[in-house]
Amino acid sequence: MLIRRFFTVAFIAMLSSFVFAQSKSKPSDKFRQLEENLPTPNEQRTASGAPGSRYWQQRADYVIDVELDDQNQRIIGKETVTYKNQSPDTLNYIWLQIDQNIFAKDSLTQKTLTAPELKDVPLNRIEQLVARQYDGRVNITSVRDAKGNNLKNTTNETMMRIDLPTPLAPNGTFVFSVDWNYAINDQRAYGGRTGYEFFPQDGNYLYEIAQWFPRLAAYNDVSGWQHKQYLGSGEFTLEFGDYLVRITAPNDHVVASTGVLQNPAQVLTRTQIQRLKQAETVREPIKIITQAEATTNEASKPTGKKTWIFKGDNVRDFAFATSRKFIWDAQGHNVEGNKVMAMSYYPKEGNPLWEQYSTQAIIHTLNVYSRYSFTYPYPIAISVNGPVGGMEYPMICFNGPRPQPDGTYSAATKYGLISVVIHEVGHNYFPMIVNSDERQWTWMDEGLNTFLQYLAEAEWEKNYPSRRGEPQFIADYMLSENQVPIMTNSESVLQFGNNAYGKPATALNVLRETVMGRDLFDFAFKQYSQRWKFKRPMPADFFRTMEDASGVDLDWFWHGWFYTTDHVDISIENVRLFQIDTKNPDVEKELLRKQANERPRTLSQERNENLPKRIDQYPSLRDFYNDYDQYRVTDIERKDYQTFLGSLSEKERGFLSGNYYFYIVDLKNVGGLVMPLIFKVEYMDGTSEQIRVPAEIWRYNNFDVSKLIVTRKEAKAIVLDPNLETADADLVNNFFPRRTVPTRFQVFKTEQQNNLQPNLMQQQRRNSQTTPPR
Ligand SMILES: [Zn+2]
Repeated sequence: MLIRRFFTVAFIAMLSSFVFAQSKSKPSDKFRQLEENLPTPNEQRTASGAPGSRYWQQRADYVIDVELDDQNQRIIGKETVTYKNQSPDTLNYIWLQIDQNIFAKDSLTQKTLTAPELKDVPLNRIEQLVARQYDGRVNITSVRDAKGNNLKNTTNETMMRIDLPTPLAPNGTFVFSVDWNYAINDQRAYGGRTGYEFFPQDGNYLYEIAQWFPRLAAYNDVSGWQHKQYLGSGEFTLEFGDYLVRITAPNDHVVASTGVLQNPAQVLTRTQIQRLKQAETVREPIKIITQAEATTNEASKPTGKKTWIFKGDNVRDFAFATSRKFIWDAQGHNVEGNKVMAMSYYPKEGNPLWEQYSTQAIIHTLNVYSRYSFTYPYPIAISVNGPVGGMEYPMICFNGPRPQPDGTYSAATKYGLISVVIHEVGHNYFPMIVNSDERQWTWMDEGLNTFLQYLAEAEWEKNYPSRRGEPQFIADYMLSENQVPIMTNSESVLQFGNNAYGKPATALNVLRETVMGRDLFDFAFKQYSQRWKFKRPMPADFFRTMEDASGVDLDWFWHGWFYTTDHVDISIENVRLFQIDTKNPDVEKELLRKQANERPRTLSQERNENLPKRIDQYPSLRDFYNDYDQYRVTDIERKDYQTFLGSLSEKERGFLSGNYYFYIVDLKNVGGLVMPLIFKVEYMDGTSEQIRVPAEIWRYNNFDVSKLIVTRKEAKAIVLDPNLETADADLVNNFFPRRTVPTRFQVFKTEQQNNLQPNLMQQQRRNSQTTPPR
């Protein structure tokens, strides 16, 4: 660092020139307020982000009879829906979602599949490409009004319109019924958020049934009917209602479902009922059906059917799972005063992982999420193991991870299971209760949920291997080429996991830790959760509430992180050291002498050193200036200095002799996102200090700023973002002076080795098996 001495007056002038250094060639105002981009506030949605005085939403109550045909893997259903028009509008028709039509052979999704890399297609996919037998199209066999009259209806891909015989006025109610059936998809072959799994070893099926009945599409104040077709990514936009569902299955099946079981005496054994009662007060999960009992069930044959009756109130959807293979455990838990039964259902193939972790993870999720948002309001919370990797519905979710057949598992599988249970149970809050529009905005449920998942994981164990949430994990994605802003429709999102889960979760973490602080963030986030529980928020409602409740201007943050694909890369371009000129000639002249001596000699000067000099031959050529020492202090200079000191106050003399270091740090915004500056100043004496500067420092110039740091000790280095809290993508330019950041890279003999997840348990077991007995 080059040291410069300056007079205080000059110093002030210099500072102001930095403040007004706005470039005309790069006009940009990243702090421009967002109002002009957000929808105009109205009586439904206020400028503060809360539901307005005339907020409204529709309601649909369902009574459903459904039978699972285990012989043919079919669903046969009949529903009666009571639709309440709570909007101010008169409706001539209503729309229903027929999601299962996505599995029709000629569905919009099938027809718009882009070409696969044929060299990578496995053999079992070839059948689907050349001779697909399975057709999951829903057969609608009857649509009638309450009097039994047929209703005109039109199916358009995954949506069905029912034309109303008479217009449905505001506050009116329309009752109708639909009969339908369809062939369930083999989830392992056709994928999906629902489906069956066949177990060839014992010949049994396990069903996870969701999106299985015609559901009212949402009608709302923002999009009217939300009937954008279901293509597979954008999930569901739904209305709340009460459900009474009667599920008929083979009489040796066990059914897990949204809602509370209404007829335990008819479907459970006396022992199971006793164990459930006992589970209400246990400290750790107990078995309602043990593994031994489940294994016995696997070998049974049904002797008839049983009907399980469930009631789920104030839910936006309804799902269930059924199999004769289920092990079942349960633990009652009091969540902030609400009694909840946490339960897990899994085949023996899920053990030993599932009995150890699933129900514990459910309860942990309810505790943590309730603290940050609102008390879990439902009486049931279920996690089911089956073919679906991870999918959420009200009170019930489906989670995939299983150990190896020998019971061992990798760390990735273990933490994958705990994380997916936290995540899917967490979806009860977002979007099952804070009912955002999933078909439009994936980030509003996945992003917020992944953020809370990260907080819950931090409270599971020290150094939990969270995949998402830490700013440094998202930097590579934010640098990548093939990306779209977070504010992109669900079906058009590229790099889905990073865009809709990782980036928004990280953004919220950065807001909480770096921009707002935990107190302001947590209060505002809770406000949002409570304002919008059992209601339908839109992005602006979230943006506005977070700002309204915290008093922090966040428009620059929403704009940069949610509406652009800029990344974070701030560089320390230079650090300049200034010190006050003490005017003491003994100090200043000595310093000048030192600087002169340290100045490097040029090559010519060095080579000319030994050339004979004329004045050495003719000493008469020498005079006063040949021997004059320009750094020698004269008595007059000393006297002048004393006079100067005498004219100063004691305070002013203190500044002069205070030995202050003025560091001007020149910064460049390389990535585009403006962010707070976090400096770590490392001193010569081995100590260090952190200085935090809010992002508003960039408000006059979004690309280049300089920050003055005044210290009493000499600095050795200045480091930007020392705790990796801003997602800065290039760490090398965060150091002044520059440091080399070493990377260790792996070499592999073959390409596959790269992706192997080590199963340390299995390695350990093999080791102990090969050790000869002593
Ligand atoms: Zn999710």
